[in-house]
Amino acid sequence: MIKAEIEKQVKQWQERLDIGDWSISIKLVDGTDVADDAYSTVHINNNQQEATITLAEGRSDGQQIVSIVHELVHVVLYPMWLLVKGSDNAQAYARAEEKAVRRLIDALCPE
Ligand SMILES: [Zn+2]
Repeated sequence: MIKAEIEKQVKQWQERLDIGDWSISIKLVDGTDVADDAYSTVHINNNQQEATITLAEGRSDGQQIVSIVHELVHVVLYPMWLLVKGSDNAQAYARAEEKAVRRLIDALCPE
């Protein structure tokens, strides 16, 4: 997908997830530039309702959509993260959130 198509998908999924009022920007990078074994990451500024999704290029449209929706669901859940951030429960919460996001994505984006 070219960037304009990716941005259109982001907008559609934002509406579907009821975060249409967020400003979400997309950064396309070479696959090796994305952290760990993931193909995408998200950086969230909750106060400004802004997020930047970094996506690895050169993957199938379906894979890109899965990554986009995955990161947008992290945006949806971010207020919950803020409740535990910095606490003893933060790491356990992060692992549980990641599992929950993957389950939700399997249901939202069946391939
Ligand atoms: Zn994730």
